[in-house]
Amino acid sequence: MPSANLVLVNDSSATLAASLTSAHYRGELVVDAELAQFTTWRIGGPAQLLASPTDPADLLLALRWARDKGVAWRVLGNGSNLLVRDDGVRGLVLRPRRALDTLQVDGSNVRAGAGASFPTLANLAASRGLSGLEFGAGIPGTVGGAVVMNAGWHEHELSRVVERVTFADRDGETSEVPASACAFGYRTSAFRGRPGIVLGCLLALTPDEPASVRARLDEYATQRRRGQPTELASCGSVFVKPPGDFAGRLIEQAGLKGERRGGIQVSAKHANFFVNLGGGTASDALALIEYVESEVEARLGVRLVREVEVW
Ligand code: FAD
Repeated sequence: MPSANLVLVNDSSATLAASLTSAHYRGELVVDAELAQFTTWRIGGPAQLLASPTDPADLLLALRWARDKGVAWRVLGNGSNLLVRDDGVRGLVLRPRRALDTLQVDGSNVRAGAGASFPTLANLAASRGLSGLEFGAGIPGTVGGAVVMNAGWHEHELSRVVERVTFADRDGETSEVPASACAFGYRTSAFRGRPGIVLGCLLALTPDEPASVRARLDEYATQRRRGQPTELASCGSVFVKPPGDFAGRLIEQAGLKGERRGGIQVSAKHANFFVNLGGGTASDALALIEYVESEVEARLGVRLVREVEVW
C-alpha cells in the first residue's frame, strides 16, 4: 500500500497541481500543458504539470516535492534538442528559464544561470569583448541545455570555456562540479541522463577587441544561415557526427534528401535537419528517423546515432 502522502504519477493532473501548490510552490503552473509550444520542432503532446518556478528556492522546492511524492519529473530547457511524443509526458516538467536567468560578467569571467538563453549569453560576451562563445549565437538552447549537451559548432565546444558547473542532485543538494569532473565529450557530459538540475556555470573567456569578437560571431551566423534551414522549425541535427564523416552527407548519399513522412521532411538544404513543414507530429518525425536509420544502414553500412532526445 502506498503511504498516505504518496501521490501516484497517474493521479489526475489537477490533484498533482493542488498537492504542489499546497507545498508552498509559488511559480507558474500549467496543467496538461501542450509542449509543442516549448520545443523548436513545434511538436509534442501535453505535460501533466508544467512548472516554471519563480527563483532557485522555488525550483528546488518543486524538485523535493516530486521526490517526496514519487512523481516522475524532467527538466525542459528551450526544447531545441527534444522530440516529445504526441501523447505527451506523465508527471512534472520543470522549466527553469525564469528561475535561473541571470548573467553576470566579472572581468573575463561570466557566471551564467542555466535558464538564460545561450545566444543571449554569446551576444553579451561579444559586446563585452570576451571571446570563446562566438559559435553559440545560433544555438537556440538555454545555458543549462548547452552544458548538458556540451553544445558546439565545428571545432568549438562549450566545455573549452567552462570552469565549473553548479548542479542540484535529485534531493536538491547543490554542489560545484569542476570542469575536470564534468566528463565533457562530443555532445555529452556527466549531466546527460543524470537525475538533477544544472543550475548554472562559471565560464572563463578571453579578452579581445569587441569588433573582432562580433565579426566572428556574425561570420558564424552567416555560415549557419547559408548551410542550414534556419527559417523552418527543427531540432537542429537529428544525428551526431559519425567518426570521420557527416550524418548529413551519408543521408544525402543514401538518396534520402526530400524524403517525407506527414509534415516532417529531410531538408533539401541540410540532410541532417528534418524540418516541420507545418502540422508535423512526433509519429511523423519518429517514422522518418527510423526509416532514415534503416536505409542508411542498409545502403551504406553505417548505423547513425541520434543526437535528438526522445521524451
Ligand atoms: P533541451 O532541448 O530543452 O533539453 C536537452 C536535454 O538537456 C534534456 O535531457 C533536458 O532534460 C536537459 N536539460 C536542459 N536544461 C537542463 C538543466 N538546466 N538541467 C538539467 N538538464 C537540463 N546543438 C549544438 O551543439 N550545435 C549546434 O550548432 C546546434 N545547432 C542547432 C540549430 C538549430 C536550428 C536547432 C533547433 C538546434 C541546434 N542544436 C545545436 C541543438 C540544441 O540547440 C542544443 O543541443 C542545445 O544545447 C539544447 O539546449 P536546450 O536548452 O534547448 O535543451
